[in-house]
Amino acid sequence: MSTLLLSGKTLAKTIQQKAHDEARGLEADGLHPTLAVVVATDDGSTHWYVRSIERAAERAGISCRIVDLGHDATGDDLAVALKDLNADPSVNGIILQTPLPPGVESDELVGHIAPEKDIDGANPLSLGRLAVGQPSFAPATARAVIEILDHFDIPLAGRNVVVIGRSAVVGKPLSLLLLERDAAITICHSKSGPLERYTKTADVVVVAAGRAGLLNGGHVSSAAIVVDVGTNVLPDGSLVGDVDEASVRGVAAALTPVPGGVGSVTTSLLLLHTTQAARQQSRALIPGTAG
Ligand code: NAP
Repeated sequence: MSTLLLSGKTLAKTIQQKAHDEARGLEADGLHPTLAVVVATDDGSTHWYVRSIERAAERAGISCRIVDLGHDATGDDLAVALKDLNADPSVNGIILQTPLPPGVESDELVGHIAPEKDIDGANPLSLGRLAVGQPSFAPATARAVIEILDHFDIPLAGRNVVVIGRSAVVGKPLSLLLLERDAAITICHSKSGPLERYTKTADVVVVAAGRAGLLNGGHVSSAAIVVDVGTNVLPDGSLVGDVDEASVRGVAAALTPVPGGVGSVTTSLLLLHTTQAARQQSRALIPGTAG
């Protein structure tokens, strides 16, 4: 059987165009959407990723400010930088890029990002709002999974969806978004036991574990739609997902590739969220227009 490859590239371009159009609309109103990315690492692949956000922002007409505090930044340095960006009216969206220096906990720092500028849904307040159905920015990666499934007209209501991974940035918010769409969800993690117990009967399997080759062809049915969120850099420098692509191709009905799947859509959504944040912030300044 041939497995359909669900590329995210066309969707990523469509979302980027939407962000571009919204940025032009904001410019016409005298507003200049700006995204700030806070970095504190020497890790080359992180800097490569941040530059890719910067280039995509430029293409969309969004300013991107890289705040590089260096690999020896302290938690206090990072907290001060985040608070300064919160207070800066020219900044609309803030991302705290991981990894952080050893001993600095991202979980504590993300609480400093103002919810209205939290365009990657990192602040626990954003996750809480998502949980109770209040307006908030969902983490872009979790939203990207839903956007890809919608783009390819894959129904979610009443479907049996397995999410592998329960992090606050991917697995949990994605499960909330799927619940909002009336899917029946099972969340797997490192202690949930053999994956095939859950995945064999799943209509949709989303893998977000950060383990290369975790899901293979023996884990899924021929009807399964497999979404690979994982990004793993192999010793030879190549990028692979969490799915053993060679064994899943030919078994599952459809699969998102890595690279060219969820990741490309994620970056475009960060830009779209920035324009949405800029619009919301401008409305909040005009009495009677907030909301
Ligand atoms: P994380 O915080 O390390 O969480 C990984 C999750 O996977 C945990 O819940 C863990 O379970 C679970 N897990 C690990 N090994 C497992 C196993 N053998 N069986 C079942 N579950 C297992 O990672 P994350 O931040 O969520 O990221 C997950 C992956 O997505 C990574 O590869 C990351 O690079 C990628 N990612 C991609 C994008 C994108 O835009 N494409 C964005 C963000 C992240 P426990 O909770 O029990 O430890």
